[in-house]
Amino acid sequence: MHEEKAAPGVVNTDRFVAICRKNNLKLTPQRLMLYRELAGSHEHPSAEKLYRMAKRHFPSISFDTVNRTLLTFSRIGIVKIVEGKGDPRRFDPNLSEHHHFRCTRCDRIEDIFEPVFDRLEIPPDVGKRFRISGKKVILEGLCPACQER
Ligand SMILES: [Zn+2]
Ligand SMILES: [Zn+2]
Repeated sequence: MHEEKAAPGVVNTDRFVAICRKNNLKLTPQRLMLYRELAGSHEHPSAEKLYRMAKRHFPSISFDTVNRTLLTFSRIGIVKIVEGKGDPRRFDPNLSEHHHFRCTRCDRIEDIFEPVFDRLEIPPDVGKRFRISGKKVILEGLCPACQER
């Protein structure tokens, strides 16, 4: 299912630290904690969910701080915002090429690593109209848990 099984606590922060340095983003304990929480999660959490996780470490942290930090992370390329319809915004720490399954009932988002999808070709007329910089397959339907309900 997942290629990298990083559990919270064994997250490698070298890359994170390097990108922060390059962008002159100060390495605060709050930022480091947020990155660790996000990188250790496979749920593509929303800002709201990360805010709840963050409060366990820094009880006085505000939602606004969490949200702004996440947007900064995405601007400098530390995380990706999951595209797709609907709020709230969801964040993805995995920058390698992969695809998503989204459950239409419980909103779970799972990573799909599938060479067949990676190889999907851009139709020539589409490629002429747009300057394509990436592609992602988003499958929708019911996750295993929701199928049983
Ligand atoms: Zn589901
Ligand atoms: Zn993902």
